[in-house]
This record gives sequence, C-alpha cells and structure tokens, in this order.
Amino acid sequence: MKQLIERICAIVDSENVLVDEPMSAHTTFRVGGPADCFVMPRTIDELVRVLDLVRTSGQALFIMGRGSNLLVSDEGLRGVVVQIANNLSDVQIDANGLVKAEAGASNARIAFMARDAGLTGYEFAAGIPGAVGGAAIMNAGAYDGEFKQVAVGVTCVDGEGKLVDVRPEQAEWGYRSSAIARNGLIVASVELQLHPGDPAAIQERMDDLACRRQDKQPLDKPSAGSTFKRPEGHFAGKLIQDAGMQGYQVGGAQVSTKHAGFVVNVGGATAADVLTVIRDVQCAVSREFGIDLEPEVRLWGF
Ligand SMILES: Cc1cc2nc3c(=O)[nH]c(=O)nc-3n(C[C@H](O)[C@H](O)[C@H](O)COP(=O)(O)OP(=O)(O)OC[C@H]3O[C@@H](n4cnc5c(N)ncnc54)[C@H](O)[C@@H]3O)c2cc1C
Repeated sequence: MKQLIERICAIVDSENVLVDEPMSAHTTFRVGGPADCFVMPRTIDELVRVLDLVRTSGQALFIMGRGSNLLVSDEGLRGVVVQIANNLSDVQIDANGLVKAEAGASNARIAFMARDAGLTGYEFAAGIPGAVGGAAIMNAGAYDGEFKQVAVGVTCVDGEGKLVDVRPEQAEWGYRSSAIARNGLIVASVELQLHPGDPAAIQERMDDLACRRQDKQPLDKPSAGSTFKRPEGHFAGKLIQDAGMQGYQVGGAQVSTKHAGFVVNVGGATAADVLTVIRDVQCAVSREFGIDLEPEVRLWGF
C-alpha cells in the first residue's frame, strides 16, 4: 500500500491523497471508520491514471461521489477510495441548453446554474444532495423527475481504463438502477439536455420542492436519505410505521420520528448502530407483512 500511495501522489499531488482518512468526514450519515487511502483526482486524465494504478495493484477500489447514499462500517475500508466530487466538478452550459458536467458536480449546483441560464428540467434534482455521477449510476429521482429524463450521454471509464460513451438506450435506467452500475463503469462526465424556461417559474418550482422536502424529511439530522427502496405497490415508510418501528432506536441511530423511511443519526451513531436498526426494521416488516425491504443505501466494508 505504501508504494501504491507514493505512485498515486505522483499523479494527483500529495495534498489530494489522504491516509487513514475517516469516512465519517465524507458521508452524510457522518459515520464510518478510516479508509486506508482516500484520493481526490482533479482531472479526468488523473482519474483514469489513478484507476489504472489501483486496478493493477490488486488493492480494493471504492468509487464515491458526495457520500449521500453510503453507510461505511466502523472498521473502515481496506483499499483505495476515489472520491469524484469537488475536485472534478466543472460545469459548462452551451447556447442550446446542453449541460456538460464532470461527474463530481453537485446536483444542486447544476440546477442553480441551469436556472440562471433560464433552463428548465433539472429542478427536481436541486434537493438531491449527491453528485451528478451518483445520479447517473442510480438514476436518482424525486417528485416525478428522474435523471434519465434529461440525460443524453454519459462518459465512463471502463474496466480496461478506456473512456467510453454510453448512450441513453445503452444505460437501461430503471428505478434506482442502471446498466452503468451493473457493468461496473465509472462515470467521468455527463451531458444533460435542458429546455428554455422562465427563470421565475423555475425558481418557484425549486422553492416548492424544497418546502415539500422540509415538511416531510428529517433534513436537520444526518442520514443517507431514504434508507430502503420502495417495494412495488407500497411505501417503505408506511410499512415501517405500520410495523410499529417508527422511533425505534439503537445507540445513536433511529428510525426518524418525522419520516419512517429515513434512518437518522441522532448523535454519536456508529455504523453498527445504523446497520442494526436497518436489520431490525427489515425483520419487523417481513414478519408483519411478508415484504422484504431492500436497502437503497450502499453498505461498504461490512
Ligand atoms: C437528505 C437526503 C435526501 C435524499 N433524497 C434523494 C432523492 O430525493 N432521490 C434520490 O434518488 N436520492 C436521494 N438521496 C440519496 C442520494 O443523494 C442519491 O442516491 C445520490 O444520487 C447519491 O450521489 P452521491 O454522489 O452522494 O453518491 P455516493 O453516495 O457517494 O455513492 C453512491 C453509489 O454511487 C456510486 N458512485 C458515485 N459516484 C460514482 C461515479 N462517478 N461513478 C461510478 N459510481 C459512482 C458509488 O460507488 C456508490 O455505489 C438523498 C440523500 C439524502 C442524504
């Protein structure tokens, strides 16, 4: 690992490489132990070179964006975490409403830039606290909007370290899923086609969605958003409530009293606390209704 870290530093500069870095500092749950090596490439070329190094080293590789859909174990991660976030977040918008964004650009920033350019179509994503690369992988969505509705192209790094263009018909976006994820591709940049709109109306829509989130979701507490995928024909939050699990708490992890679909960190939660709450909720819902809740949150290092 020591040699690998030295070689990574030669590509991205040592200030962009953190050793034994606590993942709690990089996840919205605010839990997670140390990663052996945490790298923040600054360009797509650096990203490709770092990925190549890690792959040939045989060390485990973890790709993350803004950590808003991750639960990392208290023991942390053995291997290399490559974070595609602030360092790789350039956004360009052309006169035809085509948005070209590096994968680390936040959804909020893209939505605000689009609004300022008088472009509609990405308002739904303003409150999704991840990066656009994460949105592409999971087909992030909210309030009838989904990533796939605006995406016209995604550039990825494939398993051989080559940049490949994925067209929408190849991406097979479904509910929180894509062929990009299934094929283990890494998103480097995206292209979104937005359309001219009235900036005041765009702002109004964004304000309305922000209010609806504020009303319903426990945004004042660390979480990773909806903990479980929506089971077909049901709402996870309602099932959890009806199973009597709302407010259920283990250590610092709790089924939110505001929205049962969220597990929140009410203070000092460990990843083990969160995972125990997740497992206990799954058992309760399965016992009461015979329905298996599948975590939407990605579990790393358990
Ligand atoms: C308060 C709150 C509200 C939320 N509301 C919503 C919502 O309304 N709708 C919704 O869909 N989600 C929501 N989420 C969940 C989350 O924000 C999204 O899933 C988001 O798309 C994750 O992006 P990220 O950059 O944080 O990814 P991360 O959490 O860093 O990673 C998530 C997964 O994506 C992979 N990944 C990330 N970036 C890349 C990349 N460039 N290439 C390849 N793989 C990558 C990671 O390996 C991991 O498997 C919410 C979360 C919170 C905390």
